[in-house]
Amino acid sequence: MIRRLAVVIVLVGFFCFPLAAQDAQPGLTIHVVQRGENLFRIALRYGMTTDELAQLNGIANPGSILVGQRLLVPANGAADAALPQVHVVQPGETLRSIAELYGVSAEELAARNQITDLNAIYVGQVLNVAAPAEAPTQVETVASAEIPVENPGQTVIHTVQPGETLFRIAARYHLSVNDLARANSISDPTLIYTGQQLVITGFEPPQAALDLPPVVTGLEIAPLLLVEGQAGRVRLTTAQPVQISGSFLDRAVVAASDPDGLTHTFFIAVPVFTPAGVYPLALLLTDAAGQPTPLTVNIQVLAGNYGSEYINLLADRGGLLDPSVEAAEQQLIESVMGGFTAARYLDGPMGLPAAAAMTSPFGRKRSYNGGPFDRFHSGTDFAGVPGTPVLASSSGVVVLADRLNVRGNATIIDHGWGIFTGYWHQTDIYVRVGDYVTTGQVIGTIGATGRVTGAHLHWELWVNGVPVDPMQWVRQSFF
Ligand SMILES: [Zn+2]
Repeated sequence: MIRRLAVVIVLVGFFCFPLAAQDAQPGLTIHVVQRGENLFRIALRYGMTTDELAQLNGIANPGSILVGQRLLVPANGAADAALPQVHVVQPGETLRSIAELYGVSAEELAARNQITDLNAIYVGQVLNVAAPAEAPTQVETVASAEIPVENPGQTVIHTVQPGETLFRIAARYHLSVNDLARANSISDPTLIYTGQQLVITGFEPPQAALDLPPVVTGLEIAPLLLVEGQAGRVRLTTAQPVQISGSFLDRAVVAASDPDGLTHTFFIAVPVFTPAGVYPLALLLTDAAGQPTPLTVNIQVLAGNYGSEYINLLADRGGLLDPSVEAAEQQLIESVMGGFTAARYLDGPMGLPAAAAMTSPFGRKRSYNGGPFDRFHSGTDFAGVPGTPVLASSSGVVVLADRLNVRGNATIIDHGWGIFTGYWHQTDIYVRVGDYVTTGQVIGTIGATGRVTGAHLHWELWVNGVPVDPMQWVRQSFF
């Protein structure tokens, strides 16, 4: 009898004390795990992170929750409303890992998004993760009061699909039509067109569903969406020392690795005239034993929309369009600006190369003296009377200081890690090859030497052997 009583007391103790402890927590209630739910999905419903929910319930392994299990959740949690409708693919995610996150099969997720090849998803892609049955009602009932205006989330690009309206797109991202229209300078919300690219700001992506090889501990690409004529930084961390090789858009990847061999940084650049589309970044990670691990990330390239312009050269300089004159000089520039130095001098954003007005931006497709639009403006122009100082846009080593036919008096600075700046058409050059220069140092003066229509500084920036928009590097810092 005593033994039976002891068992009852033990059982009562076992079942009651945890519940009593739960009841004591203010503002909490119980969620019973349903079939098809996982911790991520439940956390979303109640406006928590998976970590917070796991911690609240003392769950060590978030993958091991059971149907019928009772979980503590906030009583005032926004059930249902918090379920996201879209997921922006992050570097290292696969369709299978994303599907798992939302409790659907990869095949079902592919079908919802008209994806035929399960391996063909790309970084920055917007996947519809809402179940088809609930999608229409959710889309139509989003009220502007629910918009997380102060949300400091990321920016993504949405390409308008046939049949979409601004209202529908705004609802997908939990934005108001007004906010979306304002962010994209759209005056009439009914006037959007298929293929139009809309900037979606303040978008907070749900948790990532990384599916990387075991040796890779982190993969980061910034910006997430690459634009024709711009560059992106890729940073990889690994569990053991590896050597990285690979290619993107037919150019070899050259990575700078920390001495411990565990952190690797490289830049990928998109040449102007690259058609918008999805391109693989194919990497091979080779460990000390020679064991290779392949890793492919699909990257989306967007159109640069740089516009076009006609250039009429001065009569006495027309001969400089001679292909043989151009080719030899182009080869010299490519050999110098396509190099790679393991030391890095650049540390922060680039400064402007002159205290002068910008007159012609990078990237415009060009027709010279009425010819075809088969060239583009490979730098940014600054106006300035001859004699205006030219400034080193960042620290580095002078690797060219010479009088060239097309580019006139030209200076090239190596900033390390495959990043170079060029300064063309100067009157005077104040530096010599081998000089170390610092940010803002006067290295020459603006002039009208070489192939020009008047006095100006043409400022060029090359990354991994590709001329890219220098102003991207003024606006943002990669270090
Ligand atoms: Zn120019």
